[in-house]
Amino acid sequence: MSMPSKEKRPFVILYGSQKGQAQSIAEGIAEEAEQHGLVANLSCLDQNEEYNLEKERAPVVFIVSTTGDGEPPDNTLQFVKRIKRKTLSPDHYKHLCYALLALGDTNYVNFCNCGKTIERRLKELGATQFYPTGYADDGVGLEVVVDPWLEGLWKAIKEASSKMASDSTARLKENADDSAKVIPDSPVPDVQLRLLSITDPQNCDSVETTVNKDSKHATLAPSSPPASSNLRPGSTVGSTGLASQSLSTASVSAPETRIGDDGVPRVALAACLTCSLPPLSESSLNVPALPPPYLDVTFQDVDTPEQNVGPLNKETLHEVLISKAVQLSRGDSVKTALLLELDILTSPTLTYQPGDSFDVFCPNRAAEVDSVLCRLGLQEQRDHHVHVALRKDTKKKGAQVPSHIPHNSSLLFLLTRCLEIRSVPKKVFLRALVEYTADGAQKRRLQELCSKQGAADYNLYVRDPSLTILELLTAFPSCTPPLSLLIEHLPKLQPRPYSAASSCLRHPGKLHFVFNVVEFPACSGRPSGKRGLCTGWLFDLINPHLVFPDKAESSNSLPLPKIHVSLRPSCSFRPPSDLSVPFIMVGPGTGVAPFIGFLQQREAERKKNTEAVCGETWLFFGCRHRDGDYLFREELEGFVSSGTLSHLKVCFSRDVRGDEEAVGSAAAPRYVQHNLLRWSQQVTDVLLRQNGYLYVCGDAKNMAKDVNDTLVEMIKAELQVDQLEAMKKLAGLREEKRYVQDVWG
Ligand code: FAD
Repeated sequence: MSMPSKEKRPFVILYGSQKGQAQSIAEGIAEEAEQHGLVANLSCLDQNEEYNLEKERAPVVFIVSTTGDGEPPDNTLQFVKRIKRKTLSPDHYKHLCYALLALGDTNYVNFCNCGKTIERRLKELGATQFYPTGYADDGVGLEVVVDPWLEGLWKAIKEASSKMASDSTARLKENADDSAKVIPDSPVPDVQLRLLSITDPQNCDSVETTVNKDSKHATLAPSSPPASSNLRPGSTVGSTGLASQSLSTASVSAPETRIGDDGVPRVALAACLTCSLPPLSESSLNVPALPPPYLDVTFQDVDTPEQNVGPLNKETLHEVLISKAVQLSRGDSVKTALLLELDILTSPTLTYQPGDSFDVFCPNRAAEVDSVLCRLGLQEQRDHHVHVALRKDTKKKGAQVPSHIPHNSSLLFLLTRCLEIRSVPKKVFLRALVEYTADGAQKRRLQELCSKQGAADYNLYVRDPSLTILELLTAFPSCTPPLSLLIEHLPKLQPRPYSAASSCLRHPGKLHFVFNVVEFPACSGRPSGKRGLCTGWLFDLINPHLVFPDKAESSNSLPLPKIHVSLRPSCSFRPPSDLSVPFIMVGPGTGVAPFIGFLQQREAERKKNTEAVCGETWLFFGCRHRDGDYLFREELEGFVSSGTLSHLKVCFSRDVRGDEEAVGSAAAPRYVQHNLLRWSQQVTDVLLRQNGYLYVCGDAKNMAKDVNDTLVEMIKAELQVDQLEAMKKLAGLREEKRYVQDVWG
């Protein structure tokens, strides 16, 4: 039965999100639905009581990200498991019409794997695609694909919805034998083509032409002169975004002069975080819709300030003592690599295996929390209890108080332990900040940074340098948002995972881990460099107690501090349990950490079982300089002497000469993949003929991809097959969990 034309048509949005990106895109779609005459039912994929795909007769839009080694986000695991059940018949989802947006990062090997898995299964189960899938790449900026995909989505939903309502779903499927034909006059052929060529730099521009009245963006011309606010006095700023404005374009030529509200002229000779140059400064802007506010915050003065002790209660949380802190890198190394030893004897349930990692819960830096309080004018309220509730009149669809906001904790606790105040503000957050910015030039620049036209500037000045809200507020002094806006837009403070770098067979009651202190250089908007949140915090904690390479003991006799950790067991990053199975480890830099655990474990097992026949072990390690960054050198050479490690292949990317074996050779291997190639025959033999394993671990995203590409080349050459066959072979090894990655960065 067809619906009355004025009735808003429903559709379903389901998201699977690890860090909140997919969720925020899904929420954005839900918010915009109404203005397109649609009603969105939004759910997270793990809230399966809120949706029923088995009976769904409205279009379904999936927004899913991928995490780790191509894994589904935590809140999507069960859904993927359910749809993968072999007992489901091929027409299980015959009635279902879907569109899917997959988020991923091409720096990792299994790009958009979760989205691809869901899509494959939906198709296998008979579902019909009503709009081409978007594969958005965080490596180049999600928006390159997400924005045009969203623009075409509305028309596609409406058409799919009409078809589903007027025809029977069965007829819809009968008439189409492939997804491209489902909607004969496919609503977005342009977008489809562009999605296939996202690397084409012109693509971004051409997408502009698809902006139409359905666009989620409002058009905004530059102010003239730019000194004044570019929102006309009295212009309406509603939940649908800025009112479309058509102010005359100022003809400004570089160097551009802007007059701030303080009357001081500012000359921009070069673009920076706070200043743009033509053409951007003269351009009309498409800015995102204003996200509707949805939280109310009230304070309550309390008699006894709460102790800001540790992270929120988590059943699996352990407070453990740091028993040793050693600097592994030497003086002049660019990176500072540290090893921490945790005393886990007091936590008998904290049992780990080599290959596991564990989360470290770190607080935000006190000085940064103070600065945020100061910028919000809330120093006096730091110990007050914060009560966060939903705004009664909110227009946000499916609004909820975020689950990481505790009831009645102090403001200090909220900012120190719950909110990731270091996160990079998304464009929609910048858009919301515009509303709280008094100075016209600053307002315009914030609009530029969140606009389509300013996408490159956003990447250059905000995303790539990982600028934080505090740094933005410092650069835009007339911006004074309320606390509620920060709570609405800042994600949950995440613990940082680290790989276990020890075996408890070798170090009973101890857990080691290794990390580089992350350094963020100064940039536009950040006058001086700073350290990573967790690694900087750990560094400050243990600095007075550090043991240096050439010194036996720390001179400091004070007890070391305690930290909060919880275990993250790994399913597949484990050395083979059978000692006779050979394996290869690729771990440059701190990526060697889990392999120290593997080798300690193996050494202990070999000692226990002297008769055992042991398979070969290979370790490919790489770093910049032999003298500065060769982590665990003595221990690794010890493993070679004892026969635990059969082959240690090391390369130094910045030393003039390569490894020992390459001295005098022009082609000294520079990176681990070059060394792999050099030992191609032996490596492929282990993998393809001896049923061996290959593990890759490291902090360089590109490394994992380079290693993967090299493996494809090696298999091609070894088996004399083409690229596709070699890729399939490698995919097979991955399926069998004989090729496993643990990569971060
Ligand atoms: P943040 O303040 O969170 O800043 C991190 C940002 O800095 C990132 O967005 C990135 O853009 C940038 N960055 C620059 N260099 C690095 C780098 N080397 N690592 C991460 N981000 C970098 N790290 C280790 O040092 N040793 C380990 O054994 C280890 N094991 C891990 C295991 C897993 C499963 C995962 C997911 C991550 C692991 N990491 C490891 C990374 C670690 O969790 C942190 O991301 C890292 O220490 C930076 O944290 P931070 O709070 O200091 O930096």
